[in-house]
Amino acid sequence: MPATPAWPPRSAPRLYTQADLDAGVGVPVDGNAAHYLLSVMRVGEGDAVLLFNGRDGEWAARAGAIRKRDLVLECVEQTKPLETVPDFWLCAAPIKKGRIDLVMEKATELGVARIQPVLMARCVVDKLNPERLAAQMIEAAEQCGRTMLPNLAEMVKLDALLKHWPEGRALFFADEQGDAPMGQAFAAHPGPAALLVGPEGGFTTQEREAIRAHPAAVPITLGPRILRAETAAIAATACWMNLNGDWTK
Ligand code: SAH
Repeated sequence: MPATPAWPPRSAPRLYTQADLDAGVGVPVDGNAAHYLLSVMRVGEGDAVLLFNGRDGEWAARAGAIRKRDLVLECVEQTKPLETVPDFWLCAAPIKKGRIDLVMEKATELGVARIQPVLMARCVVDKLNPERLAAQMIEAAEQCGRTMLPNLAEMVKLDALLKHWPEGRALFFADEQGDAPMGQAFAAHPGPAALLVGPEGGFTTQEREAIRAHPAAVPITLGPRILRAETAAIAATACWMNLNGDWTK
């Protein structure tokens, strides 16, 4: 007797939606999402699609009647509860387009809870396109299996970030001028955390002094070489996830 194929199939496409998800709820899909399902993933009537919205976990839905440019997905069963990610924030300068997109994508895959853009004196760019960055995070979350998106905060200036820093959260300061090894620093501060990475031009002397003067600041070194800002953000986040995050749970 051949085994009944698993439902939903592992190959089912995964889509972020803002709609509420619950048994029997119909989720209309149009625009780019419909194009992706219908033309790229060739979804047909009765096929499974996985949906998540950052609130209700992940749901397996079945495609209803297919129209030229839109379709309705009916939620059948919850396949994953809402999963939180480790309480880690990435505070990074708004580096050049392309590189900041890479940071958004990798921070999402790595399990970051919040991304806080920080404006510093030597930033090459001083504005961001939140819609484009959100699209990067959504695509990465769809691919990596997260059920929540990272929270993308409004950009703040460094002095405001330091002034309003929340109690009880370690601020690991990636200082290219060096300091404690990450393993030692992360082990000494196991609770809620954040990583602060500078812009392409690095930190100014007064920025470095202001950060080091903050009680939550924990300066760390990322080794003897000068890493690009995006490399530093991705590498240090990965180290934290492995040592203090959920990679070894
Ligand atoms: N242009 C600067 C370097 C900027 S690198 C210079 O030549 O000195 C961008 C950011 O990545 C830095 O501000 C720092 O936050 C981080 N970074 C790069 N290499 C690092 C290292 N070896 N240790 C700690 N942080 C580093």
